[in-house]
Amino acid sequence: MSQNLQNSPTANGQTNSTYDVIIIGAGISGMYQLHLLRGLFLSVHVFEAGTNVGGTWYWNRYPGARFDSESYSYGYSFSQELLQEWNWSEHFAGQPETLRYLNHVADKFDLRRDIQFKARVTSAIYNENENCWQVGTEDGATATAKFLITAVGPLSAPQMPNIEGIDDFKGEWYHTGLWPHKEVKFAGKRVCVIGTGATGVQVIQTIADQVKHLTVFQRRPNYCAPLRNSPIDAATMRDIKAHYADIFKKCSESFGSFIHKMDPRSALELSPEEREAFFEKLYAEPGFSIWLGNFGDTLTDQKANDTITEFMRRKIRERVNDPQLAEKLIPKDHGFGLRRVPLETGYYEVYNRDNVALVDILNSPIERITATGVKTADAEYELDMIIYATGFNAVLGGFERIDIRGVGSQTLKNKWADGPRTYLGIQTAGFPNMFTLVEPHNSSTFCNIPRCIEQNVEWMTEAIRYMQDHNYERIAATDAAEDAWTQHVYEAANKTLFPTVDSWFMNVNRNLPEKKRTFLLYSGGGPLYREKCDAVAANNHEGFSMR
Ligand code: NAP
Repeated sequence: MSQNLQNSPTANGQTNSTYDVIIIGAGISGMYQLHLLRGLFLSVHVFEAGTNVGGTWYWNRYPGARFDSESYSYGYSFSQELLQEWNWSEHFAGQPETLRYLNHVADKFDLRRDIQFKARVTSAIYNENENCWQVGTEDGATATAKFLITAVGPLSAPQMPNIEGIDDFKGEWYHTGLWPHKEVKFAGKRVCVIGTGATGVQVIQTIADQVKHLTVFQRRPNYCAPLRNSPIDAATMRDIKAHYADIFKKCSESFGSFIHKMDPRSALELSPEEREAFFEKLYAEPGFSIWLGNFGDTLTDQKANDTITEFMRRKIRERVNDPQLAEKLIPKDHGFGLRRVPLETGYYEVYNRDNVALVDILNSPIERITATGVKTADAEYELDMIIYATGFNAVLGGFERIDIRGVGSQTLKNKWADGPRTYLGIQTAGFPNMFTLVEPHNSSTFCNIPRCIEQNVEWMTEAIRYMQDHNYERIAATDAAEDAWTQHVYEAANKTLFPTVDSWFMNVNRNLPEKKRTFLLYSGGGPLYREKCDAVAANNHEGFSMR
């Protein structure tokens, strides 16, 4: 493989640039992938739709956006210098700080010189004769590369609700995933939030005391757990810096690569008093302790799950003054932890405020958006601002926005119409030299993301290095390897309770009813995933055909 950057004119007069590798996306994974591939002396070009780096943290600048991972477990671990020079100000940093951090990384490693901003990729077509990918952007430009790496992010395609009349509204409206770069003012305004997932919860608790009136339109409630954020003082930061190796080791040994490790005991082997004391301890701890530091079988055994579910229901009842309101905030269709747990700070207490109303749209559905607000089956709500916290076309949405075609012009969309099929969540058969970072069936998508991103990116880089060493030009997952991995993904999922519940983990999105219900993530956990990836690499990349 050689460094072969060159430009040639295309039929429409645009320049067609040629690279060794094209990466789509300059979020956390795309940035690190660029950095590592430079080490292989490859010409690498990144296309990024935004005007700057950061991905998720660039787009999701809604009020209250912040980490649910401990800050110091989230940063990149690959550079000691970076670890030692960066100070986190809070245990769970807010979005502005995280974006500053990612900009700092881009500056430090001089990443921007290979990133083309405001360049949304719309097509990626594999040319079998030339063994290369031709990538097209929204503005009609094209570029060609031997390797295509998608770093498009699992939660990057914002999804508007399928409610009639959205365009009729004359007031301000925003989707959280496309939050404007200007300041949005809430004072004196009648605002509503539609959606009560992890995003909606952060917005609601943040703006409740800023708005004149807040109406929350809730369809299905989630179990929310306390974040328990606090500042990091200088001494604590020094201590964190001295113990990064331990922190990352702990992450690497846990299911989701967080500092929280599932308790191997069964929830059912303790007496009710012991169990209660354990749950109380976890509830008082910061972060995902109560979810990912709990008894492992709370996620695999319905009876065990019932114990923590009842505990969480009691907590909601204790925190919400109006018992009828509390019942509305308690999920009835799933147990605790089986959908992504939103972490909160004073979320339930928001509903004790006089200027906040909860509208249960399961019982009184939204009929339409009007010029002046929202009309449900029972009432009409006059509003100055609508905030859509309605989530994403999760995991697959980032791909569906791009016309990706592999061997024989097969489209990825068609191939994955009944659910993704992948090998290690890194490749899909029929799309040679295309790698998918942090995507379906890949443990990174069910993880303290940067921890798993590093594994993914490093594995990918080693695969390309292996190809360089052996003079291979083409790598393609075999059908057999893909079948076996896809089967393994489903078997691992079926050992848990996740498939029993509708969520974005299960590709369920009521705004996109055509989606097939199927497990999108990898639930075998980080350590097992890493072990399997390492075994494949050690075995001459078995399951991939190379030539
Ligand atoms: P989400 O979990 O998919 O929640 C979307 C919400 O909008 C749900 O409450 C949903 O109700 C509601 N909704 C969607 N369409 C609707 C409609 N037509 N009418 C009424 N309600 C509608 O999306 P999200 O909150 O943006 O979170 C997505 C993921 O992003 C999270 O699970 C998490 O992984 C990640 N996230 C992370 C952080 C963090 O790390 N700090 C923060 C925020 C988000 P139903 O449940 O009834 O469909």
